[in-house]
Amino acid sequence: MINVAATVGKLRKMNAKKILLQVPDGLKPNVFDYFSRLSSEFNVIVSSEGFYGACDTGNMEVYKDVDCIVQLGHSEIPNINYPKPVIFEEYRNEKTVEIDPSVLEPLVSGGSRRVGLVASIQYMNEMQDVRRLLEDQGIEVRVGESDGRMRYAGQVLGCNFSSAHSVEADVDSFLVVSTGMFHAIGVQLSTSKDVFLLDLNDRTMRNIKGETDKFLRKRYGALYRARDARKFCVVVDTKVGQHRRKLADVLMNDVRKVGGEPVLLTTNEVNPMDYENMRCDAVIFTGCPRVPIDDHEKFTMPVMTPPEFQTIFGLKNPGRYIMDEIVAVDDLN
Ligand code: SF4
Repeated sequence: MINVAATVGKLRKMNAKKILLQVPDGLKPNVFDYFSRLSSEFNVIVSSEGFYGACDTGNMEVYKDVDCIVQLGHSEIPNINYPKPVIFEEYRNEKTVEIDPSVLEPLVSGGSRRVGLVASIQYMNEMQDVRRLLEDQGIEVRVGESDGRMRYAGQVLGCNFSSAHSVEADVDSFLVVSTGMFHAIGVQLSTSKDVFLLDLNDRTMRNIKGETDKFLRKRYGALYRARDARKFCVVVDTKVGQHRRKLADVLMNDVRKVGGEPVLLTTNEVNPMDYENMRCDAVIFTGCPRVPIDDHEKFTMPVMTPPEFQTIFGLKNPGRYIMDEIVAVDDLN
């Protein structure tokens, strides 16, 4: 549950008057309660727009009219220079998830003696439970430090796997505590170790290799069409935690180097129709790395992450698929 009393205390301390409240879909059923409790003391307006997470605290227009943003459900991204004060009230999974220790057996019997443990933010508590279960079975557990994009050791985002990188050399495999496959596939693609997913939806554990291979086949299939592209849209996202303008400038040069014709675009909300109207052959998207991957079917042309473009066009030759990871972003102003 979100601790609204704590939020009120923080807002009083800041002497805030006008508040923008961002509520993720999962917490929207409680919005009347949050609104009535906060608006008894502050001038509150709720954003009904969807938002990505701590990388997305609304656009510049919104900032003009409020003193403070309260975002529920996510943890702060420490190395973002937020243009307005933001209070992040994190949400952790409340239901106790009982994990049968035997579920972890394939990891233990598979010879992993040292395991790197990571989790998405909602499941940091469960990660500690899993740590105890593994240690009870004689496994040495390593929880890696994150870089400046994440708040907690062992945390992973869809755009940052630094907590896995930091212990990769010291572990035999990784265990990802989460609910979907994306984070586990990200850890698999950005490290060279075996990766297991403890899926808290059904409390099963599996090696993610087959699904990663499937992901790669699909991804390379989608990218194959980009090889003949000549006209490229290089897109900069204006969300505070996705704004990589300097990288976009590098990509503009890269496109010219490979004989292409680039256009530099800015957007706050990706609309596939825009790129169709511009008759571009391919899009290179510098915002959230999940957009080109999760939403590619909405586009009629190939949509690439920066490392995908650089690899497909031979500007880099890493010898393997490189996940697009955001380490830091550029200030908006
Ligand atoms: S994965 Fe995308 S939505 Fe999540 S923090 Fe990174 S940029 Fe934001």
